[in-house]
Amino acid sequence: MNYCKRCLYPENAKPTIIFDEQGVCSGCRYHESRQTIDWSEREKLLREILAEYKQKAKEAGNPYDCIIPVSGGKDSHYQVYLMKVVYGMNPLLVTYNHTFNTKLGLRNLNNIVEKFGVDLIRFTANTESVRKISRYMVKTVGDITWHYHAGIRTFPFQVSVKWNIPLVIWGEHGFAEIVGLVSLEDMVEFTKWTRQEHDMRGYEPEDLINEESGITSLDVAPYVFPTEEQISETGMRGIYLSNFMYWDALEQAKEMVHRYDFGLREVPNERSFVLHAKSDDHANDVHDYLKYLKFGYGRATDDATTEIRHGRMTREEGTQLVSEYDSVRPSTLQSYLDFMGITEQTFLDWVEPMRDLNIWEKHKSTEMWVVKDSIVLDDREVDDARLLLVRPEDRTFGSNNKRFFCRDKSKHIEYSPITL
Ligand SMILES: [Zn+2]
Repeated sequence: MNYCKRCLYPENAKPTIIFDEQGVCSGCRYHESRQTIDWSEREKLLREILAEYKQKAKEAGNPYDCIIPVSGGKDSHYQVYLMKVVYGMNPLLVTYNHTFNTKLGLRNLNNIVEKFGVDLIRFTANTESVRKISRYMVKTVGDITWHYHAGIRTFPFQVSVKWNIPLVIWGEHGFAEIVGLVSLEDMVEFTKWTRQEHDMRGYEPEDLINEESGITSLDVAPYVFPTEEQISETGMRGIYLSNFMYWDALEQAKEMVHRYDFGLREVPNERSFVLHAKSDDHANDVHDYLKYLKFGYGRATDDATTEIRHGRMTREEGTQLVSEYDSVRPSTLQSYLDFMGITEQTFLDWVEPMRDLNIWEKHKSTEMWVVKDSIVLDDREVDDARLLLVRPEDRTFGSNNKRFFCRDKSKHIEYSPITL
């Protein structure tokens, strides 16, 4: 297995990653390419788009001029801040409630409504449907949160059609940031294809309906995308703000904490060291553990990679964190096994055919799965790809970032899995 010479991603990183002749990955190159963009030019383009849709809403007599899909996290706060405070838009906020909420996440969602004076529509999926879908998608593709991705990528467009609000504002293009799936030059917009192929693992809701799953058309109703006819009638369009401004999640989180009381976790999830992300999502540790069981890497790889790309951490420090976190079995797993009505052995049996055999091998005598390939073994030529580090106080665990990262693994918050 090849690993990026700069960050920590392996060549099997999802959805797809490319290495150049220097052995540096497409995600690292995407990150670098931000330095070459004329951001004031981009901001002008954004202002033009927003003015166009503001005018359209006025002509249609619609009080709302855009939709912002929100979860309640740092990006949601920042998107709403930009649209409402900086650009004077009148957004309608839309949330797909996946039901695996944390108390802090619910508090933060309310915080957005309160602090920014915006309206919110929240769709809550029923627990029984979520149970059936989680169970079936773990068994089929090893994803316990398929309904999240499907819900948040679909429900805003259902609202777009019903309320006649064509413009949908996303924050960061996640797959561009992680693996450099698209280029900043392309200024891609949201497509139904990306939604299905990458967010929903190639599955449209009707693909889930069968006798084995017990899933019905009613269970998947929240995930059915509007028809081509509805799309063209509404003229819907989804733009990513990260194409129009230099997106720096940590700096934005700091600003939202300071100015709008965005709530941070006090102790981290079990599988990473970041306190300002994934605070609304109780199932994230299990979701991420599945990624590790399949591909051999997890959220600590993602988070340390972000830190390395920003010059806040060395590759060696990142590798150390990966070895501390990526293999951790989350204590929340049992509550989700109970929720799905399966044993841990069944869970592991379902995942077994999805394990990447370039990473995993079954020990001959113990029959246990062991990792046979590791980034620790790949330390050649990394000096050629190194970035300069920022000042000590601005580094990941430096004094300026104390509330945002934490390595203390002794404390964890107890949650119950289903919180509406
Ligand atoms: Zn990289």
